[in-house]
Amino acid sequence: LCSMSPIQATMFPGDGIGPEIAESVKKVLNTAQVPIQWEEHFVGDKVDPRTQSFLTWESLESVRTNRVGLKGPMATPIGKGHRSLNLTLRKELGLYANVRPCYSLSGFKTRYDDVNLVTIRENTEGEYSGLEHQVVRGVVESLKIITRTASLRVAEYAFHYARTEGREKVSAIHKANIMRKTDGLFLTCCREVAEKYPDIKYEEVIIDNCCMMLVKNPALFDVLVMPNLYGDIISDLCAGLVGGLGLTPSCNIGEGGIALAEAVHGSAPDIAGKNLANPTALLLSAVMMLRHLKLHDKAEQIHNAITKTIAEGKYRTADLGGTSTTTDFTKAICDNL
Ligand code: NAD
Repeated sequence: LCSMSPIQATMFPGDGIGPEIAESVKKVLNTAQVPIQWEEHFVGDKVDPRTQSFLTWESLESVRTNRVGLKGPMATPIGKGHRSLNLTLRKELGLYANVRPCYSLSGFKTRYDDVNLVTIRENTEGEYSGLEHQVVRGVVESLKIITRTASLRVAEYAFHYARTEGREKVSAIHKANIMRKTDGLFLTCCREVAEKYPDIKYEEVIIDNCCMMLVKNPALFDVLVMPNLYGDIISDLCAGLVGGLGLTPSCNIGEGGIALAEAVHGSAPDIAGKNLANPTALLLSAVMMLRHLKLHDKAEQIHNAITKTIAEGKYRTADLGGTSTTTDFTKAICDNL
């Protein structure tokens, strides 16, 4: 085994298919002898008054201490008096940017062969500020909040990401022709940051045109940065370009360099507990986490074993047109390591 002392990382197996795909991640990382020791935390069965949600205070402390973690999907329990799990994580850990790489997996044929882009979504404000109310009967109002602080922070992250990942261009996605003040401020902040990165090309693309361009020719894009709502929609569109939710990873970046990686998909209650889930999205999220930890060799090795397994085509889960179970697919990846 590796002589390095293990790195502590937090693991939230989550709900639904979460524990099944988390098991797959543990197995693959173990087989690859990745020096990580997981601290597992499950969603609690009662509201913790310190977090006002079903997430325990200890689990948040674990991420704060380890500064790195992997999260399975979480289904927020229905009922009053508690905060949504994902919202609690975002707020309590200051997870301000959601990074979703989106690339064609060699060996899995989709409409496009050459997708290789990254969406970076502002994660804390915009239309998702939770400020909605009824003005009078039949009239409701929702506030879209854009701040200079949050816009500069996510723009800075996008350019920093582009530079460190050897990417050439950042596109700011907006609707400032209509949302003059809010998206206008977002763009002003992106421009300010762009000036500090003369080595990175910068462009601005209106969101509707961006959708059309993405569907016609995704190779036109490199790194895309955008406010919260646009990011939510565009990143799912991008997931569709490369084969769907079973394949797309993401990583949330928080204050003080916290990184919490997670699959884009939800808890898939329709297939939970049936050994049918595709663990690829969570595995690729774990690969993002390993890159964040600068364990590049291990990350490459696991990434290659996943793409090789999918390309061989012998073991694929149902969402990719195959008949393999989660455990058989996982075993095939381990054999390819
Ligand atoms: P979902 O992503 O769970 O499922 C959508 C469809 O995709 C389903 O048919 C499902 O079977 C399939 N699917 C998803 N992941 C898959 C995988 N790994 N392998 C194979 N098939 C997969 O979306 P939903 O049904 O809208 O949401 C279910 C629950 O998940 C809800 O409670 C929702 O709030 C929650 N959710 C959580 C997160 C998160 O924790 N980040 C994200 C989205 C949804």
